[in-house]
Amino acid sequence: MKTKETKNETWEEFVERWEMRSKGAAKTYPLKNTKKNPKIPHITQETKKNLRWKAFSYILLHDQDWSIISSIAKRPFFYTYRLLRSFFKKMPMRQEDDLFFYGFENEEAFKRALSDKDCSLVLGFSYCQKPLECPSGRFTDQCINSSDNPVCQQCPISKMISFQKRKNTKIIWIPTVHYIGKQMFSLIDEKKKFVFMITACEMTLKMFADWGNMLGIKGIGLRLQGRICNTMQALVLSEKGIKPGLTIISEETEKRVFKILEESAMSIKK
Ligand code: SF4
Repeated sequence: MKTKETKNETWEEFVERWEMRSKGAAKTYPLKNTKKNPKIPHITQETKKNLRWKAFSYILLHDQDWSIISSIAKRPFFYTYRLLRSFFKKMPMRQEDDLFFYGFENEEAFKRALSDKDCSLVLGFSYCQKPLECPSGRFTDQCINSSDNPVCQQCPISKMISFQKRKNTKIIWIPTVHYIGKQMFSLIDEKKKFVFMITACEMTLKMFADWGNMLGIKGIGLRLQGRICNTMQALVLSEKGIKPGLTIISEETEKRVFKILEESAMSIKK
């Protein structure tokens, strides 16, 4: 069993090494709440009704510093047209188990886009995935990801970003919907070529798909399990930092993501 990182380590070897260290850290510094994964509906029946309209009013009513509205106002016709065009589609994205594809047909198309070395990967994590003991605070966009810290050593976010070796990767820790919206607008302003991979609950992956299409951004949403937000009330509280539960990526989905990241890194055209 390997305990040190080796050159050309496969994702399976990385995960084995990571798990071993994580179990060691858990013996001396056990984290709270790690194993609970309640089986709750991804979205409640009541919440499903008019979800896309709810997204519309949510974005506008909670845009406290007017950052989203003012960004749209720079190109009002362009963005309104694209928002409406998406809005009238039955499905603004494609779902395959826990993976939601925006602007991509499938995993292969996503990997092909990443084989372009000029294309950046925006890797985003919802703050609710952070351990309750996170040294950078949970409801923040910060992360120290210290290899010496016993909490980071058990953190699923650290596991993914430590494996990710792609040079042009931007990592974002997401406290609110408006926060990620602002980040996306600024990447567009910088005229950078990028695709995203972002963790979120099914409700927000479905709610804000039209807004992603409005921006013309492409990527994969990774559906979270555990103490997800499945009602509007839960979302509103979570966006104020009131989120005592933890969310997780299922083991199966995590493996799929590792494979995608590995294959994308290997396929970069020189
Ligand atoms: S890796 Fe980042 S998010 Fe995870 S516990 Fe450490 S500081 Fe928090």
